Amino acid sequence: MKIKIKTEGYKQVILYVFLFTCLAFLTGCSKESFVKETHKRDNIISRQFEMLTCEKPYGRIHIESLNEEEALQVSRFVDECMSEAQIESDKGDYELFFLHNPTNENFALFDSNILVIPLDQILLGEITYTKTNLIYWMSNCDYWVAYGMAASGEEQIDDLAEYYRKEDNCKQLNLSGARFFDIFQSNDDCEMVRETAKAIVKYAKGKCYSSSQEITENKNHIINEWLKSLDLEYQYEYSLYDKVKYIANSETGGLNYIIIENIVMDIAGDPYSGTFVKDINDMERYLSNISEDIEGIQDFFINNNVNEIEQFMQKKIACHKVGAEKYRTSFVQPESETIVLLQWNTLPHEYVHILFNPCFAGDSIELKEGMAEYLGTYKYNHKIKEMFYDWLNQEDSYYAPIGDEIGIKSINSENELDIERITHMILQNCEVKEKVCRPLNDKTEEWTYEECSDFVAFVINRYSVKKMIELAGLEESEQRKAIDALLPEWEETFQ
Ligand SMILES: [Zn+2]
Repeated sequence: MKIKIKTEGYKQVILYVFLFTCLAFLTGCSKESFVKETHKRDNIISRQFEMLTCEKPYGRIHIESLNEEEALQVSRFVDECMSEAQIESDKGDYELFFLHNPTNENFALFDSNILVIPLDQILLGEITYTKTNLIYWMSNCDYWVAYGMAASGEEQIDDLAEYYRKEDNCKQLNLSGARFFDIFQSNDDCEMVRETAKAIVKYAKGKCYSSSQEITENKNHIINEWLKSLDLEYQYEYSLYDKVKYIANSETGGLNYIIIENIVMDIAGDPYSGTFVKDINDMERYLSNISEDIEGIQDFFINNNVNEIEQFMQKKIACHKVGAEKYRTSFVQPESETIVLLQWNTLPHEYVHILFNPCFAGDSIELKEGMAEYLGTYKYNHKIKEMFYDWLNQEDSYYAPIGDEIGIKSINSENELDIERITHMILQNCEVKEKVCRPLNDKTEEWTYEECSDFVAFVINRYSVKKMIELAGLEESEQRKAIDALLPEWEETFQ
């Protein structure tokens, strides 16, 4: 008898433990599971403070508060975001910091699994942008899906139907991240894009697309079904996808950074020269193509076993235009391995400098600029191809004779252009050369960029990439001699 009671007692204890575990699992962090810790100054958050920390399946949350109620509120907020977007992450590799007045959201420069989020917004219940950022960064979905999930309020169906009745507005349906920020188009247009995202995500959820991932993957179909539901006949079809990541400010929703492969581009309200990227449609195309350009450059080095560049492909490379006002063109700051960018189209060129500069022993500017132009302007730069396509097609442009010679009228798109060959033709045609070639600097006896890249193309095509790397690795005077020795052979290619 005694034994029986004891067993039942154990059973009860086990039952309680089981129930308690279930409860703890359902509610995530409980008050008891927060641990008080001190954050020490580091690269990401440069001050010391006390915080409450809690373990989660996806990683850890740190709240700059010793008030357990506040910490619970934050913990529940994150859980809500995760469940709303159906984010399944149990790798435990996220570190989420919730801080009072975070001075920067610079985490992107270090590690994309570290998020720094303003705490006050959550405590005040102003959560649209914080929620957008959390869902966007933790679920790998498109920006519009994350925003659509986070936005609240009634959707303006009638206004949207009216708006998309004009076919010109239908370009907004691409919903690329760039369309959400008033740096690239007017705030009124951004507002329509935001309303569209909200309405389409709500529509998708009503049609049983529940996770942010699913909605992203079925974008075209969902948009077309949604248009039909508004009695609109427009057929949406698009193939350019967002391959870059947008880091928006959690408080204002403004754009801080764009991440392109391992490049962290500082936007901070001040875009780069619009000369070659004139409107939102240009920008959308640019941002879609630039990732491929950067990837192409990386692959070129990997496939040719240039191991020196590996370290620069692993780490984040900062790109900004601070302090560049007095310069006319983009450049690289070698000490900090930073790109100072003035025009959008020069990014691949500067990226090649960052990757390839470590291969140099001698300081030949002809080879350095030649390599950057050869890879970053002529081979892997979609924007430059677009520009050449326009120039070659304009009858009154300096490039018209070359356009005639290659039969530009029968070429259907910029993708068919071989810029390397066109550059060689420009150098062969003295008149065109005179007008369009750009000297490396103001001294006229120096080489032009076009000559540098053509020389590098010659070395690579006649000999090999390996030969080019060997040239770069020679000491100053040896390098000069080696270049001089190749000149007669190169000059022959112009005859
Ligand atoms: Zn350069």
